[in-house]
Amino acid sequence: MRIVLVGPPGAGKGTQAHFIASHLAIPRISTGDIFRYNVANNTDLGVKAKEYMDRGDLVPDEVTVAMVRDRLAESDAKAGFLLDGFPRNLPQADTLKKILAELDQRLTVVLELVVDEDEVVRRLSGRRTCRRCQRVWHVLYEPPTVAGVCDDCGGELFQRDDDKEEVIRHRLEVYSSQTSPLIAFYADEGILVGIDATGPVEEVTARALSALQPYVH
Ligand code: ADP
Ligand code: AMP
Repeated sequence: MRIVLVGPPGAGKGTQAHFIASHLAIPRISTGDIFRYNVANNTDLGVKAKEYMDRGDLVPDEVTVAMVRDRLAESDAKAGFLLDGFPRNLPQADTLKKILAELDQRLTVVLELVVDEDEVVRRLSGRRTCRRCQRVWHVLYEPPTVAGVCDDCGGELFQRDDDKEEVIRHRLEVYSSQTSPLIAFYADEGILVGIDATGPVEEVTARALSALQPYVH
């Protein structure tokens, strides 16, 4: 299956991607995680991406698309993938379609996580991410057993630089102006499925898996 997850920052894409990808045994490809890894390791890609990420802007398409093209060409993505955070604007969606066509592939389904803005702000302001395995936690809603330590791998948890209030606000504006048009785009293609992404994480996962069920083959 070739799945795209779409929804505002803080909707729970990374959280749900973790469970969905492991349930379906497909790789989770998060452009945000790949960028953060490159920033942390000070690579050329990281240097190019950092200023945009710090402001909450989208990294330029040529940089992002080249990275995704390389990742999708890796062998583990041949049988399917779950994209988290890509595409993020209409030109990226068009390019993704072309990249997949070159590989004789197309998207199976786009899953939209629907959450209102007050809830995403609450989620983002308490988010903590594992430095080692990238699993996402929340200080109130999904607290790890020991504060600051990932239950899964024992890695150190950190707060993302772009989860500061003023950057959160800007990222929500970027979502609304640049990313939300993807909803109509994929609805027109007939591959959009939306779910209510409020409530406990396990309930959202159950809703996501049952929405995806008709597409599993
Ligand atoms: P996204 O990848 O869409 O930006 P995340 O998966 O990183 O969102 O989730 C943002 C924050 O919200 C994290 O701290 C996560 O633990 C928390 N979270 C995710 N899903 C839920 C949920 N259903 N209820 C409460 N908190 C959630
Ligand atoms: P995320 O982890 O998905 O919240 O992404 C964090 C940041 O990485 C975003 O605010 C952007 O600066 C950058 N980023 C991630 N995915 C993309 C993308 N598809 N296009 C452009 N920038 C992206």
